[in-house]
Amino acid sequence: MSLSALPKVDRVLDAEALAEPLRRLGRRAVRALVRDVLAVHRERVRGGSTPPSESDVALEVAGLAAARARRSLTPVINATGVVLHTNLGRAPLPKASLDAIAQTAGVYSALEMDVELGARTQRGLAVELALAELTGAEDALIVNNNAAAVLLCLSTLGAGREVIVSRGELVEIGGGFRIPDVLARSGARLVEVGTTNRTRAQDYARAITERTACLLRVHPSNFKITGFTERPSLAELVAVAHAHDVPLVKDLGGGLVHGLSDEVLAAADLEREPTVERCLATGADLVCFSLDKLFGGPQGGGIVGSGPLVERLRRDPLARALRVDKLTIAALEPVLAAHGRGDGASIPVVAMIAARRDDLRKRVEGWRVALGDLGSGTECVDTAAAVGGGTLAEAPLASAALALPAGDADGLARALREASPPVVARIADGRVLLDARTVLPDQDAALVGVLRAILAAAG
Ligand SMILES: *Cc1c(COP(=O)(O)O)cnc(C)c1O
Repeated sequence: MSLSALPKVDRVLDAEALAEPLRRLGRRAVRALVRDVLAVHRERVRGGSTPPSESDVALEVAGLAAARARRSLTPVINATGVVLHTNLGRAPLPKASLDAIAQTAGVYSALEMDVELGARTQRGLAVELALAELTGAEDALIVNNNAAAVLLCLSTLGAGREVIVSRGELVEIGGGFRIPDVLARSGARLVEVGTTNRTRAQDYARAITERTACLLRVHPSNFKITGFTERPSLAELVAVAHAHDVPLVKDLGGGLVHGLSDEVLAAADLEREPTVERCLATGADLVCFSLDKLFGGPQGGGIVGSGPLVERLRRDPLARALRVDKLTIAALEPVLAAHGRGDGASIPVVAMIAARRDDLRKRVEGWRVALGDLGSGTECVDTAAAVGGGTLAEAPLASAALALPAGDADGLARALREASPPVVARIADGRVLLDARTVLPDQDAALVGVLRAILAAAG
């Protein structure tokens, strides 16, 4: 079936069903919805489905427009089993962070003032000191996200100069973060070395000239090359960089820190993952990582490492444009404290990664009991959940899920998304699976309520 058989955006906008949404939301918003709906259908048509009619698309858009009358950040139940789900806002914050935000948001705070001295201080000083302390770094800087952290490092050190990267690490992390594009935007010139599958320390050494600003090492995150591969260890790369007196910048992405208990690391097979501390101890001069991936905090990017280099970054005018707001600082403080105490259990992301399959099975059985007769067609099944967030290529987590009765899986999944609160599930082998790992413990009752309504309607 040809894609040209898909309805045209302007024709759909003329449909009667969209008159009210157009008045309420305006043409731009409704046009964007039509495009989103048509994009989904385009994929389906490519997969062999028949194209929808104009009025089908218009009705679908009207339904979406009605849903948009709700808050844009509708709270949802994440039953996908993907802990760091980018489309669902990555890390849910600990209770202590919520309290800190509530206490800070509506009042003035000593954001850039030392109240004892009555003098101006640096914004975020306390959290930056705590991050440096936690990771054993000389200094730390916190910016809006890890993409900003990498951009700042490359721009401050590399603008007008050269940055050396392995061809095997010229990756796209997701959400449009592409190493070559970020490098281009920083004003640094990319010098590629090695090949996609094999790069040696010598390749870097040969590429170093007086124009070299730094070597960049990128954690491949959600991407893995297997087979005939080779890349130097971080230690070998550090040796090459330092022999030529250039700094080594490591984009670590996930932001694993040592405080997480060994049990957690083992559960997620994260033992082989480098930690921030380890990268620094190995000699990386700057390490960049997300604060809302494995670290479990608010959206942010940490840069830790050499005192003089971090100070150069801090003084760059670009740092001013990438600075975090006070609510981020408020939310981050308790997370840093929890890592410092080794109290992973109080950080939701860490607790979810650490959850054991036996305990998850018990929760699923609890849902089944609460469903009573309505749960008779459901089953507790073993699944493989994921850390997600473009953090690790593999590391499946042994998990457990409630499998809904076989049948119209797409229809059930849609009904779950349209429920209040919306439940996002996953479909495997034609069945809808609700993974217990990512359902927050205090959402159990709401989830059972939604399931009761949907199973009653389906039965
Ligand atoms: C996730 C990731 C990024 C982007 O981090 P954000 O916090 O999403 O901006 C950059 N580099 C690596 C290696 C990553 O894993």
